[in-house]
Amino acid sequence: MTAVESDSGVLAGEERMLIDGELVHAAGGAFFDVEHPASEQVAGRVTDGTVADMERAVGAARRAFDNTDWSRDVEFRYHCLMQLHAALDRNKERLRRILITEVGCPVTVSGSQIESPIEEVKHWAEHGRAFDYLQDNGVHETQLGPARRKLSYEAIGVVGAITPWNVPFYLNIAETVPALMAGNTVVLKPAQLTPWSGSEYGRIVAEETDIPAGVFNVVTSNANEVGAALSADPRVDMITFTGSTATGRAILAAGAPTVKKTLLELGGKSAHIVLDDADFSSALPLAAMMACVMSGQSCILPSRILLPRSRYDEGLQILAASMAAFPVGDPWTPGNMQGPQISATQRQKVLGLIQSGIDSGARLLTGGGVPENLTTGYYTQATLLADVDPDSQVAQEEIFGPVLTVTPYDSDEDAIAIANNSIYGLSGEVSSADPERALRVAQRMRTGNVSINAKSHFGISSPFGGTKQSGLGYRNGEQGYMEYLDIKTIGMPA
Ligand code: ADP
Repeated sequence: MTAVESDSGVLAGEERMLIDGELVHAAGGAFFDVEHPASEQVAGRVTDGTVADMERAVGAARRAFDNTDWSRDVEFRYHCLMQLHAALDRNKERLRRILITEVGCPVTVSGSQIESPIEEVKHWAEHGRAFDYLQDNGVHETQLGPARRKLSYEAIGVVGAITPWNVPFYLNIAETVPALMAGNTVVLKPAQLTPWSGSEYGRIVAEETDIPAGVFNVVTSNANEVGAALSADPRVDMITFTGSTATGRAILAAGAPTVKKTLLELGGKSAHIVLDDADFSSALPLAAMMACVMSGQSCILPSRILLPRSRYDEGLQILAASMAAFPVGDPWTPGNMQGPQISATQRQKVLGLIQSGIDSGARLLTGGGVPENLTTGYYTQATLLADVDPDSQVAQEEIFGPVLTVTPYDSDEDAIAIANNSIYGLSGEVSSADPERALRVAQRMRTGNVSINAKSHFGISSPFGGTKQSGLGYRNGEQGYMEYLDIKTIGMPA
């Protein structure tokens, strides 16, 4: 019996979506399947929302914003979000099973995708309660004499949240909870491959919190048009999106006619500059682990390793050995750290990019195909490509698989130039025995975030955003809350 079957009582339901406070089936009555990528079996199904359902959800969110006190009653929002925090915590094992079933995320590494976002709900509730929504901006001289200016921070309105499949529960929370706490109403459109993480969130809101009807809605759908309808709807004031750069461009274009505020966290192709004084024995096994641990399905993964030519072979040997030994297998089995790719299509894309690298002259040092003992499930071998041409497709396109490319460099300047040779600028890494030298290199990288010696740049209290074609705006930190607020400047008698 597979783990999915053993959990079928929990998972094989016909999940509904949340519109205007009701858990409902789609207008057309259709469903679509949810597949477990580790078994290639259908695990259950979910209601298949239509454009008409999305229009109803947006209407409900609009009414809840315009006609209720949600945007003005910070104490009530705090109460509701603390309830949500407790409710998610009560349901966390169910949420974990959903995550493993939909994504194939190994149970061993699921904490950062379940426990951490649940804690973030509490963080945003407390942050939003303590926030000063009416700030004194001091006295200013004007043509009509002095004016005392006040800054009123106010919710933007209806926020459409569109999320991807790689870390679905975390991103559902990260995109919606600060928006709600800031006083907005929300329509969440989860990704096709991971609808249950969204529908279960909707069920918990409906059944276990006092969040009023229409304030939070979830529309699951198998059609991209439903996300497109959300991003084009004139009743929506803001879109927050995480996903591919191509879809981000489409969302920006769809929002242009109504000048929608758009927060985008898009693709990445981050470089890891390993300086010649770095401790290879700690930096490189960690780099290999980062590449494998979510099956490479992470936008911030530093997937382009740049090694000094003087220590090139030494670095390649450590990377290849670490990748070949990485524990891959059934995500339900404790100890496995790498599960399958999420779908047959995704694995095909990863294998195709590996082949394109080999075709363009890269040397395959380990991996390159499907693990021999894991032919059921969309598993991919951890793969190391050396001598990668920085202009080649495999060095330029986001792979979203357990693949590292390695390119040698001759000087720090050379390494910085190769790192910056990308349309993306999401994250990066520098390894060095000298933190000041590493910092100087990090400051030259055209990217939104950098880790030095694996010290993570990512966390709830620090802003996270991309440069170049990796995004617009910030999540996390003070900026990540302010993104969901407009500032009204008021001139008053001094
Ligand atoms: P992927 O190609 O890996 O599935 P996407 O960036 O296309 O990643 O998908 C991320 C999210 O964007 C999903 O929820 C998907 O349904 C949604 N989406 C896809 N196309 C559009 C679109 N044109 N407008 C709005 N949302 C979209």
